[in-house]
Amino acid sequence: MPEFQHSPGMRDILPPDSGRWRQFQAVFAQVVESAGYGEVMPPLMEDLAVFQRVGEATDVVTKEMYDFIDRGGRHVSLRPECTASVCRIFAQHRPATPWKVFYAGPNFRYEKPQRGRFRQFDQVGIEVLGADDPYLDVEVIALGWEFYQRLGLRQVKLLLNSLGEPDDRARYEASLAQYFNDNLDRLSPESQITLTKNPLRVLDSKRAADAAVLANAPRIASFYSPEAAAHFEAVQQGLTDLGIPFTIDTALVRGLDYYRRTTFEFQGGTLDSAQNALGGGGRYDGLVESLGGPATHGIGFALGLDRTLLACDDEGVFGAPNKTVDVFVVDTTGGQEALRITAQLRAAGISADRAFENRSMKSQMKGADRSGAPLAIIVGSNELDAGQVVIRPLRGEDAQRSVARDTLISEVIQALQTAPKEATQ
Ligand code: AMP
Repeated sequence: MPEFQHSPGMRDILPPDSGRWRQFQAVFAQVVESAGYGEVMPPLMEDLAVFQRVGEATDVVTKEMYDFIDRGGRHVSLRPECTASVCRIFAQHRPATPWKVFYAGPNFRYEKPQRGRFRQFDQVGIEVLGADDPYLDVEVIALGWEFYQRLGLRQVKLLLNSLGEPDDRARYEASLAQYFNDNLDRLSPESQITLTKNPLRVLDSKRAADAAVLANAPRIASFYSPEAAAHFEAVQQGLTDLGIPFTIDTALVRGLDYYRRTTFEFQGGTLDSAQNALGGGGRYDGLVESLGGPATHGIGFALGLDRTLLACDDEGVFGAPNKTVDVFVVDTTGGQEALRITAQLRAAGISADRAFENRSMKSQMKGADRSGAPLAIIVGSNELDAGQVVIRPLRGEDAQRSVARDTLISEVIQALQTAPKEATQ
């Protein structure tokens, strides 16, 4: 066992897996850039107070923050999520609205590590600030949906709810608190504690002990104002228009105190319930204001990379990309030819690798095989003297042939066009 290993809940992402991560972000960027979203890159660290604004009652804020005092005496934290940072950035820079942005990168939460749950984990997400239109809610949800489709996932489910206007929500919360207090002895001890902080969050409980009480809890739909009901109606109509299937789940409240109206969650069809929330989001108000900006409407979502990739594994889609080079150069004359040839190939846009340490022909050919390249270029002293190189296909039936050194690039391009490729997953 080596002396050092990564800390609990952290991971080392090695190739070829890392290629899958990069591809995940690339597909997401393609989907949202095609809808006019620009990338925002929040810092990995902020003043702790920025994150505390998302809600004092959430686990993220109370127990999971990676916070510390920096050398300047500031109380800072690694970011546990990006929404608060995006709102802080909006309040600080005041871009024109609607401000449509996306992000991708790691967050940090001091959680108990388990399958699909890590202390450093990647999310991709979008936020739109400064517009209040039900069709914007539809656009945001549809982009999440489209992303999952693009990955090849076919079993993702969309759950939808509305929390109503803040007043509706407040009346609902009061009624819910009353109901839970009336049934206190039938709630799990954990939910009894949650109740003292935020009765809505009790609805999040997946504990069997709470199931009976939750089943008869008051429903938010009875508390909607006409505006909230109309907004929710338009969102549903828009999703139906686009052919995006959804299920209304009145227990879907999500943690943030700032959520209002639309909330939604994407669930994997194949994961068990502890990991099946692939991502989610909703409409929020007040967050930008609480960070020193003007009153601003916001909506967004964050999708977790880990659980989405688990869902991809389960559905057998979006495997790690097969990253191989085009050409492997074998040089038995000392290595300087390989140095020149690889540089020339790379400059021409052909990916190339080579052997080092002046190994034997046999050992270099093994390296060529391992590289997965469809072609080897071989240079020995005979070739060097004759101003030639050998192009050897490493797969398929084609025979090797000698070509003039100065026609190398065009010969390689031609050979690559006919060389059998390794099947990509
Ligand atoms: P949240 O920001 O808590 O709403 O989480 C959004 C999504 O991020 C979740 O549905 C998960 O897919 C993912 N996620 C949240 N926390 C973690 C974690 N500790 N490890 C891995 N993924 C996470």
